[in-house]
Amino acid sequence: MTLHTRLVQPSTAEDVTRLLGEPESKIFGGGTDLVPNRTWGLDTSGTWVQLRAVPEATMISLDEEGQWSIGAAVTLKAILEHPKLPGLYPLLADAIMAVATPEIRNQATIGGNLCLDTRCRFRNQPPIWRLGLEPCFKSGGSHCYAAPASSQCVAILSSDTAPAFIALGARLKVHSRSNSRWIEALELYTGDGDRHLTLAPGEWIETIRLPSRPPLGVFDKWRIRKSIDFPEVNVAISVAPGENSREMRMVLGAVAPGPIRLREAERLLAQGPWDQDRLVLAAHTVTGAIHPYDNGQMGVVGRKRAAEHILYRALGKLRNMMGEKGVSA
Ligand SMILES: Cc1cc2nc3c(=O)[nH]c(=O)nc-3n(C[C@H](O)[C@H](O)[C@H](O)COP(=O)(O)OP(=O)(O)OC[C@H]3O[C@@H](n4cnc5c(N)ncnc54)[C@H](O)[C@@H]3O)c2cc1C
Ligand code: SF4
Repeated sequence: MTLHTRLVQPSTAEDVTRLLGEPESKIFGGGTDLVPNRTWGLDTSGTWVQLRAVPEATMISLDEEGQWSIGAAVTLKAILEHPKLPGLYPLLADAIMAVATPEIRNQATIGGNLCLDTRCRFRNQPPIWRLGLEPCFKSGGSHCYAAPASSQCVAILSSDTAPAFIALGARLKVHSRSNSRWIEALELYTGDGDRHLTLAPGEWIETIRLPSRPPLGVFDKWRIRKSIDFPEVNVAISVAPGENSREMRMVLGAVAPGPIRLREAERLLAQGPWDQDRLVLAAHTVTGAIHPYDNGQMGVVGRKRAAEHILYRALGKLRNMMGEKGVSA
């Protein structure tokens, strides 16, 4: 385990990639996830690479095609205070407002929120608590306490903005040693709680690009207390009205190592008018689509019920919003 951490601040994307190529190197966004993990001995990296001096990673900009880009090192507060973004993408603003507290949002970056480490009540504990347990998959062992029959870690991704970006159809610019590439936001997650990101060693997110025509959308979150708490479950839904059809994205978060697209509910809602029965049925499909484990604060049954409830609530809100905008539901 590394005892001393070096904090470096390169000024070019190339230097960031080179430094991340060194063993035990990580991006340091606002540190609101990394520092608590470090304090509890859950993070052992040796070099923290800050993006604050890399212009592309710190800007919010609009290109000629009308697409907004947000640098990964932009803070959550800066996005909320931007003169245009919250009005254009209220779904994203609502998701950001749901993250932790104002103090944390002042410090936390949007890249850090997307890449937040997964959490589990058997691991995110002080060292003295963990001493009593043999290491699990995520700690280098060969067992999972939350899902004993599972062959991999099922720790939860608690990001509030990940479902929102996926529902919005955002794309991420990933830098690597040889090139840079764009991926869909959903492609960032592997589904394995131990190595939950598809980023290879040395890769990092530079920018998040939003679609030029913002869809209508809603975000909702279920947590134990109304402030500070991580989500037990969250949901983001968007509808982009087209000429003959509409494109819909329903994404559930905080019940698995990555967000889950609810395709069955999307199909059901595309098949007819959004009357009460259809909304109830669509929300109910979630109980078959998710398989939460006993690793959050709420139990398995409670999280499934909460998921169904917030999905129904969010769909009702979206239906009203569509009515106000003259979009047929
Ligand atoms: C009390 C408390 C409550 C919280 N509540 C919530 C909540 O309700 N909802 C929620 O979503 N989060 C919550 N968080 C978690 C966290 O604060 C936020 O998710 C925050 O947005 C993380 O951003 P950061 O910049 O501080 O991340 P950091 O701690 O700097 O980094 C987090 C991880 O992301 C990686 N990373 C950062 N930027 C990049 C990049 N550009 N490319 C690749 N990897 C990168 C880092 O290497 C690290 O592994 C809470 C945290 C605390 C302490
Ligand atoms: S989900 Fe299982 S393997 Fe992952 S941290 Fe929790 S107990 Fe460990």
